[in-house]
Amino acid sequence: MKIHILGALSGTEPFPNRNHTSWALELDNGNIYLFDAGENCSRTAYLSQMDLMQIKTIFISHSHYDHLAGLVNVFSTILKMRALYRDTQPRSIDIFMPEEKVWAGFNAFAESIGAYPLHTEINDHILSDGGFFKNDDIMVEFRGNEHVAKAENGDFRSFSFRITVGDKVIVYSGDVRSADEFADWSKECDVVLMESGHHHPWEVCEKWRNDNCRIGKVVFMHHGRDYINLPTQTAVATRRAWGRDVIFAEDDMIIEL
Ligand SMILES: [Zn+2]
Ligand SMILES: [Zn+2]
Repeated sequence: MKIHILGALSGTEPFPNRNHTSWALELDNGNIYLFDAGENCSRTAYLSQMDLMQIKTIFISHSHYDHLAGLVNVFSTILKMRALYRDTQPRSIDIFMPEEKVWAGFNAFAESIGAYPLHTEINDHILSDGGFFKNDDIMVEFRGNEHVAKAENGDFRSFSFRITVGDKVIVYSGDVRSADEFADWSKECDVVLMESGHHHPWEVCEKWRNDNCRIGKVVFMHHGRDYINLPTQTAVATRRAWGRDVIFAEDDMIIEL
């Protein structure tokens, strides 16, 4: 299976060749699971020949624009592909949103501008702390975090994910207040995709090393000023702190698992 980085930037102003956060997991059977949908993610995916019609489920970690603003184009690009390929086979897409009101607003907008593909059932769900999605391909566990303040009723509005496919485990931080919010997950896994927009990556790695975390591949994405302004120094400091190689994701990068 492959991790496609579709956008590795945090919610900054525009930069050349960098788009806001999104990545996709493409399984060996061709099925695709999309995590976050920042600007231009479907454009990057389409131009790198990813078959967007194979997207089965979409998970949006929280309702900030840098994780969500490209979602309407995910659907409209699928719509165009289905028209081009005269694909009328009934399909369905499950979508997990962090908040009911954000889903309601998005759904009304997408419908009103005709963005949804024909013959496609859209099954909407709301994320919950401790909840999970499971099918024959994949299990995705949801962990609430405090990157976004909780709702008045105490519901989490921001989530991290642990993804299990066969014997492989991928942890995706989403945006987090602290890497400690998923410390039990980062203790042992094959890949961690960690946001570096709100944390110095070398500090995160120093902590993981002190905690004897056993992580196969450390990948930083959702880059903030450290990596944008000083990429080489940031990478050197982070690799030194971890004691091993660390991947700093770039748009359109593929990580094989
Ligand atoms: Zn963000
Ligand atoms: Zn955020």
